[in-house]
Amino acid sequence: MSFAIARPTSHEHAARLLADGSYRLPVLKAGGMDVVDHLKENLIDPDLLVDVQPLRPDEPGGAIHHIETENGGRVVFDASTTMTELAESEVVREHCPVVGQSVADAATPQVRNVATAAGNLLQRPRCWYYRRKQFDCLKKGGSTCYAVEGENRYHAIFGDGPCYIVHPSNLAPALNVSDGVVHWVNRDGESHRTPSRDLFHSPREDVESEHTLPNDAVITRIEVADRPASGFYAVKEKQSFDWPLVFACVQLDLDGDRIESADVWAGAVAPVPWPLPDVAEALRGVRITDAGAVREACANAIRDARPMRDNGYKVKLLPVAIRRAIRRASGRPAHDLFDGEE
Ligand SMILES: Cc1cc2nc3c(=O)[nH]c(=O)nc-3n(C[C@H](O)[C@H](O)[C@H](O)COP(=O)(O)OP(=O)(O)OC[C@H]3O[C@@H](n4cnc5c(N)ncnc54)[C@H](O)[C@@H]3O)c2cc1C
Ligand code: SF4
Repeated sequence: MSFAIARPTSHEHAARLLADGSYRLPVLKAGGMDVVDHLKENLIDPDLLVDVQPLRPDEPGGAIHHIETENGGRVVFDASTTMTELAESEVVREHCPVVGQSVADAATPQVRNVATAAGNLLQRPRCWYYRRKQFDCLKKGGSTCYAVEGENRYHAIFGDGPCYIVHPSNLAPALNVSDGVVHWVNRDGESHRTPSRDLFHSPREDVESEHTLPNDAVITRIEVADRPASGFYAVKEKQSFDWPLVFACVQLDLDGDRIESADVWAGAVAPVPWPLPDVAEALRGVRITDAGAVREACANAIRDARPMRDNGYKVKLLPVAIRRAIRRASGRPAHDLFDGEE
């Protein structure tokens, strides 16, 4: 394997390099955490790496700003903002805590210091069959999903295939409860905006890709709305260096301790960030302190779950993750052993 490395002078320049027909397979690299993994496992064989990291704005703590718009406040951050910068940002913590919480404990400090927001969104799935070159599964143009009959304990409980990956990004569902918008440019220098809710498609639409952006799209920045009563909770096998087994992102509109409205999304349970409108509807009017009513509302999350042979445990964990995310969204600790919450 040999490839050239290009250092574009702008995002538009990077988009042009991606679209330049003189390269067989140009690949865009940001922090490189996932791209380099793909190189090491021989999953891709690019002839050009387009390195956008040198385009990072030179601002300590990352380029994270709060702006006022006609429709309320929004937090805007550069595509190259690292997971650490998002997690440590006071602006994010004050205006949209779910975004910072979603990446605060993901991966390891070393990964978080390098991995970018855009790269987190567009990283490829972790399915172990996808990650091994010798398995020519559906996602790699083959004819079989090995997870159906094989090892599927970390796979999807929603979505009905034909590929059963779980979407790998912690950040994506957090953007979805925050009216997230992804800004990108293309080879012609045109600027576009895609709501985060439209950023990913089901494997039924195209099993070989996960997102809806064209090949020459270069993400420039991401914005979210003010969501001060929002929270994230992940259940993991161990607390560091691990992927969530399930996680939940919640945003609440509260009137005192009464939930006026809610938005609830789950992660690590489906090939795309998974909306839970039935839970949101059932939470309407519930008092946050009424543990029984909150529990009942969260039980709706698993009504349509279709676990595979080895991942039935996710059905039990998901309502717990949602309840804990609700607690965090309302400013309380995720769990309190003294008030009956397990
Ligand atoms: C041990 C370990 C544990 C992890 N645990 C978690 C976890 O719990 N939760 C989680 O969410 N993630 C986890 N990750 C994944 C990690 O967060 C991602 O690999 C990382 O965020 C990718 O970011 P990057 O900047 O390094 O992307 P890169 O590897 O540079 O790129 C990833 C993809 O995004 C594309 N891309 C990057 N930037 C842009 C852009 N500006 N415009 C268009 N396309 C772009 C690239 O072309 C590539 O396809 C873990 C990783 C490791 C190694
Ligand atoms: S779940 Fe998807 S990526 Fe994994 S083996 Fe099946 S088709 Fe391949």
